[in-house]
Amino acid sequence: MTNNLPGTVYLVGAGPGAPDLLTLRAARLLESADIVFHDALVHPDTIALATRAEKVAVGKRYGKHSAAQLFINKRLVDAAQKHQTVVRLKGGDPMLFGRAQEEIDALLEAGIAVEVVPGITAALAASADLGISLTRRGISRSVAFATPRVGREEQPSDWAASLMNADTGVLYMAAHESKEIAAQLIARGKPAQTPVMVVESASLDGLRHVTTLEALKRDGLPQLTGPALLMLGEVYREALNAAQDQQALAAALKRRC
Ligand code: SAH
Repeated sequence: MTNNLPGTVYLVGAGPGAPDLLTLRAARLLESADIVFHDALVHPDTIALATRAEKVAVGKRYGKHSAAQLFINKRLVDAAQKHQTVVRLKGGDPMLFGRAQEEIDALLEAGIAVEVVPGITAALAASADLGISLTRRGISRSVAFATPRVGREEQPSDWAASLMNADTGVLYMAAHESKEIAAQLIARGKPAQTPVMVVESASLDGLRHVTTLEALKRDGLPQLTGPALLMLGEVYREALNAAQDQQALAAALKRRC
């Protein structure tokens, strides 16, 4: 179709991984899309819903350089000149650590209509997997989503401050530097015994591991293959106690054998 151009660009949340954790609106848009630009983290079955669309993989797994982002912005603008329904499919929710604002601004500046379709962000999927609420009466009344990652040309950020002030903290793009993160939080005054939950590939299979800031600072994490979150706070205390009891039991049994 060449009428009604430029088309609309939809920034669509693909959810955390499992293909059925997608909104109906997202599924309908994928079905009607002419072209889909998707992140590397999006599940192949989700991309396959776009039966009639040309599919273009964009973006590296962890963050994007500004040059690469400018190129994506330009491709979205160009696609809207040629197609009616352009879908930009992003992992989780587009509006959280998704470089959505750069794309929205570039599209609006070029006179292209943009709509955003929310998705389930990793932190919410991880909480569902664990069966542990981010908030809890009497224990946690605030949640911070933060990332220690800063782009190459950006000022250093004081990400740790937000975690000092929140009852539950969720760190995105942080697992590969877990030792340094734990060290920084302890240095800032977070108790060394603060429970830390590690969730890899939320909504799919991956590591579920509970530890403490102190142990994380000392040992870091085992090798991970999927994306992971570090979640910390007193809401994970019971899970930590249970894991520590199990470890003590296993050690006692080993001694007896
Ligand atoms: N917009 C996405 C986040 C993109 S930033 C969202 O809303 O979820 C990429 C980071 O998200 C990864 O480094 C990792 O920390 C986290 N992440 C994405 N998918 C994840 C998953 N299934 N399980 C755990 N962490 C995930």
